[in-house]
Amino acid sequence: MQADLLIHNANVATLQGLAAPRPADAASDAGLRPDWSVAVSGHRIAWVGPSEEWDGNAERTLDADGALVTPGYVDPHSHLVYAGDRAFELALKLQGKSYLEILEAGGGIRHTVERTREATVSELAEAALPRLKRMRAQGTTATEAKSGYGLTTESELRMLEANAVLADALDLPVVSTFLGAHAVPPETDAQAFTDVVIDEMLPKVEAQGIARYCDVFVEEGVFSVAQGEAIFDAAKRHGLGLRLHADEIVNTGGAELAARAGAVSADHLLRVSDEGIEAMAGAGTIATLLPTVPLTLMQPQWAPGRRLLEAGVPVALATDHNPNNPVTSMTLVAQLGCFLLGLSPTQALTAATWNAACSLGLESELGSLEAGKRADLLIHAVPDLDHWVYEPGRQTVETVVSGGRVVAG
Ligand SMILES: [Zn+2]
Repeated sequence: MQADLLIHNANVATLQGLAAPRPADAASDAGLRPDWSVAVSGHRIAWVGPSEEWDGNAERTLDADGALVTPGYVDPHSHLVYAGDRAFELALKLQGKSYLEILEAGGGIRHTVERTREATVSELAEAALPRLKRMRAQGTTATEAKSGYGLTTESELRMLEANAVLADALDLPVVSTFLGAHAVPPETDAQAFTDVVIDEMLPKVEAQGIARYCDVFVEEGVFSVAQGEAIFDAAKRHGLGLRLHADEIVNTGGAELAARAGAVSADHLLRVSDEGIEAMAGAGTIATLLPTVPLTLMQPQWAPGRRLLEAGVPVALATDHNPNNPVTSMTLVAQLGCFLLGLSPTQALTAATWNAACSLGLESELGSLEAGKRADLLIHAVPDLDHWVYEPGRQTVETVVSGGRVVAG
């Protein structure tokens, strides 16, 4: 076999195995193979196997010297595209102001909305590109990206167009989610805006074919469960998959809505009820957990990660990158998934790769290291998964291979 790149003598976390998102039991096997190698040809993985069985030629060989090799991270919840930043809010947060208080004072999302509405597609892409590069340099080789800072039909469509520009610029998968119902714009109310999302925005999103998913921020003071349900019904008619911001600040029954509507993922879940957990387990809804969010909101309370896993709910991890939580490191998210949510290192890796890929419908293409898949993989500066997590904040990723190309390291 002739390969372009061979990563030799690695401790390879293959994530090979099941074809569905993995709940706790299955997520406790990362398919770790000591002294294995991965061969890459073009954009694809050509071969994965024991190092001593490799008998091909490689144009370039990287000796991993026993280091951990994992699939590239998949970040299944991000608000990557927006104009401006909100560093000035740090002082307000340090004074103890809550997210809703900052929002009511005209800050928060409204600040970002004003700037995003004024931006062109290329200005939006230009602002987001350095962020996506930082994500990739830290190991994220595929990401989801939501609209939701325009809140007018035209500006929402521009945000989704910017996703495609970004995907082309770096040649990596950016999965678009239409999140028109992210906040209620100041010029209208939640019910009237729900109607705009359903009657005006969703038909155009479908006509342009620029989103794979529809998301709604169901929360007290934002959109109700009934409004979320109505948007979901319309999104399904327009051929979109569903994901939900659910039960973050108060329990509104968001997890139950996600399960009932057949959403692929319910995200946040700090206040999820036992009934919500049961409903998600029954429906196979993935719980996407975002452990840096309570940190950056300075409201230290975390989603019940271990309880969700024990109930049979598959867990994914994500940054929730946004101007209020500008986190780009999935390694940090995974480390905090262990220390704050109670995941094992193996469960955290599964949540940051395979389960995240499943939640974006990318599992046949990436999320595990198998011949034929997109060659997205990471060489870490540590030998195993315990060391991957052991030092919170340590960036363990040394080399990033994205679509077969070494892009960092
Ligand atoms: Zn979010």
